[in-house]
Amino acid sequence: MAFSELTGQIDAKTRLGNSLLGEPGHAFLFVGPSGIGKKTLAREFAKGLLCSHPTKDGGCGTCPNCIYMREHTHPDYRELLLPDGEKNIKVADVRSRILSDVGILSQIAERKVYLIDADGLAEEGQNALLKTLEEPPKHVVFLLTVSDDSKLLPTVLSRTVSIRMVPNTDEEVYSVLRKKDPDILEEEAKLYSRFSRGIIGYAMSLMETTWLVDAWEEVMDLVLTLSEKTRADLLTDTYTFFEEEKEHFPDLLALLDMIFDEMAILIVAPQSPCLHGEGKKDKMMSVIKKNKLRVSQIERCSKVISTAAKAFRANGNFEILVCQMLLALKKEYMNG
Ligand SMILES: [Zn+2]
Repeated sequence: MAFSELTGQIDAKTRLGNSLLGEPGHAFLFVGPSGIGKKTLAREFAKGLLCSHPTKDGGCGTCPNCIYMREHTHPDYRELLLPDGEKNIKVADVRSRILSDVGILSQIAERKVYLIDADGLAEEGQNALLKTLEEPPKHVVFLLTVSDDSKLLPTVLSRTVSIRMVPNTDEEVYSVLRKKDPDILEEEAKLYSRFSRGIIGYAMSLMETTWLVDAWEEVMDLVLTLSEKTRADLLTDTYTFFEEEKEHFPDLLALLDMIFDEMAILIVAPQSPCLHGEGKKDKMMSVIKKNKLRVSQIERCSKVISTAAKAFRANGNFEILVCQMLLALKKEYMNG
């Protein structure tokens, strides 16, 4: 594995590659949402830092350092991650695993590298690390990962070089998913990619259950049959579905929004390929024709959905906000 085998993140990889060829600093901070691949990229960079013959693309892959890294046995590399079920990394662990080790010289490589999950460092843990970050021994490089850098002390931030990770494109996520599971249905891979908002790790976790695909079928069915549903249908069966999936409500709204977006595209450009596959596309087209749907109606539906999302975030009464949303969607649908 090298930088070029990781999808996307061109800016980050270029900066890291350049620093491998120059004189790398002593502390890097990988910033980006959970699941975007901070640790994967940081581990690749660590391999390059320890490698005997690094290139712009990271470690050479064949020297003893690279082989030890691949086998997770490099004596000059350590990770301090948040243990499962814990809220914070213990300060005692920062001291015993990192601070008492930094002064010891490296065994094989020219450097020692420490990867630390800074999301697990409360203020006390950050403070414990601070003095070493300020005056690191020459042979030491720290790689910190964090999803929200506003939670770090300004003094920690000022001692690190930030490497910002950006969301991948839908196409990039799609290609990673297809590589991971070549048998996955195209429309499902597209759904996961689009729904993941460019976060590869999130897309991978979505693939582990059928929840998204099942919910997508339900929500799609709702949109396709909305004009035929009576007020009573909406307030009983449809409401019950939302109530049973209450914990996933924001995701259901995102699915609804995604399907309405797709409808708007089909109204303007009926020839464009549909995310949801040809079978669904035919059904969506016939609903558009039958109800003479226009883009302005779909836009009003999107507003109804965002109003419901806001009410949900503000802890509004769930039954009221869902029923209002369903009735408003029906109304916008019928009032061309
Ligand atoms: Zn190497």
